[in-house]
Amino acid sequence: MTTTETQLAEYALYIDGNSMPAESGDSYESINPFTGDAWARVPDAGAADVDRAVGAARRALDGPWGELTAPQRGKLLRKLGDLIARDADRLGEIETKDNGKLLREMAGQAKALPEWYYYFAGLADKFEGSVIPTDRANYLVYTRHEPVGVVGAIVPWNSPLLLLTWKLAPALAAGCTFVVKPSDYTPASTLELAKLVEEAGFPPGVFNVVTGWGPPAGQALAGHPDVNKVAFTGSTATGIAVAHAAADNLARVTLELGGKSAQVVFSDADLDAAANGVIAGVFAATGQTCMAGSRLVVHESVKDALVAKIVERAERIKVGDPTAPETEMGPLANDRQFEKVLGFFESAREQGATVACGGQSVAELGGYFVRPTVLTDVDPTMRAVREEIFGPVLTVLPFNDEDGAVALANGTQYGLAASVWTKDVHRAHRMAARLRAGSVWVNAYRTVSPQVPFGGFGASGIGRENGSDAIRAYTETKAIWVELSAETRDPFTLG
Ligand code: NDP
Repeated sequence: MTTTETQLAEYALYIDGNSMPAESGDSYESINPFTGDAWARVPDAGAADVDRAVGAARRALDGPWGELTAPQRGKLLRKLGDLIARDADRLGEIETKDNGKLLREMAGQAKALPEWYYYFAGLADKFEGSVIPTDRANYLVYTRHEPVGVVGAIVPWNSPLLLLTWKLAPALAAGCTFVVKPSDYTPASTLELAKLVEEAGFPPGVFNVVTGWGPPAGQALAGHPDVNKVAFTGSTATGIAVAHAAADNLARVTLELGGKSAQVVFSDADLDAAANGVIAGVFAATGQTCMAGSRLVVHESVKDALVAKIVERAERIKVGDPTAPETEMGPLANDRQFEKVLGFFESAREQGATVACGGQSVAELGGYFVRPTVLTDVDPTMRAVREEIFGPVLTVLPFNDEDGAVALANGTQYGLAASVWTKDVHRAHRMAARLRAGSVWVNAYRTVSPQVPFGGFGASGIGRENGSDAIRAYTETKAIWVELSAETRDPFTLG
């Protein structure tokens, strides 16, 4: 990064271990959504740049990186984790400038990232093949887990380095090489990470970054014939387009998509704890998280009391400068998000919802700020209840019995996350089994860890990230048959 007279930070693409402009020479400005000002200039890459990056990744795979042992890859991953820990505050600041989320959230995420690199570094030399006891006495059969090849990763703006890390750490542990296309709104932290990858000592071409405005660079990466696996996080609509593009090349696909997650609160729940969990689930990160708990499914008998607690806290949420330590909710990340959320306020009113709090922008702050919003008197057919808003908007759906709660909670095309709030241990486990979601929290919400699988049912995606199985998604399993008897066989039967 260099800084010009106008104080714009200048970034370059990172391909084959080198910083370079886009082949077209084009660039665009990254805007700080809090100030509304451009703060960085990044290259606007296209298909030719993606092609260069994929070529570099292929050469690295066939060259020096492919020759490293699993323990050597693990050491490099550990070193990268150390360097991220050293620079975590700076990386967090950069992410806040790009996406407007709270500095304490982004710096907190950056500080947690090393744990993912350490976890997958540890797995690199423990993901073992096996010797298979077959029904053929004259064969020794064993398996090898080999890297799937070149990985193309496409990540969104809400948690750029975290969502990249969920892909990069297992991919490198497995021995893959990597090309990432960050969101056009949040390119800078990924380009900063490239410097740390280089400093850690990874060979050129193992990690490549192409930044570009709008879909072209992502489309070129998802559909590149020499990409073996596409790993994507973002909206369901784009995920489907990415999967179509990858399918033309039979590239493997992992998709982490949207959600409309339910927080189910029973009448015996600790209502203060539940209110706090609901606030954490839908208002933290200004609601811009895939796992946002945006539907409150609450027993009729405690609905009014719980909604009163949530509204009281929501009205006290400090909205403002995301870098100020006292701020609890920053702006929405960009103009598109802002217009989208305002559109949901309008449609909810038109469709007859009651706005218990919020439902408007924060005029005195300008920019992309909206108030934390609670919508009651909604029904499951309303847009605000069915669609992912990706903003601080909670819809409240009452139920009368457990079956009703399950029907409401599962009444969505999505299935990313859910929670159950109850003191009844029997009911807690029963509900955890009945809810169709990739993560279910009991008396908690919005926790993740490198050790725990994360992903969705239904329209929330395909595959899981994190946990020991995540490395499997970056490998091909090869079966090796070794004939032991040295006898010839009937060539016209299946051996
Ligand atoms: P998208 O899903 O469109 O974007 C995610 C990533 O995909 C970005 O890097 C984007 O690049 C890239 N991309 C866009 N179009 C294509 C394409 N045709 N082929 C390949 N890559 C592509 O999300 P948006 O940023 O547009 O946000 C829209 C909505 O998506 C949000 O309001 C929210 O509802 C949802 N969303 C969900 C997320 C989640 O974690 N589940 C994360 C982000 C968004 P670029 O940004 O450069 O266009």
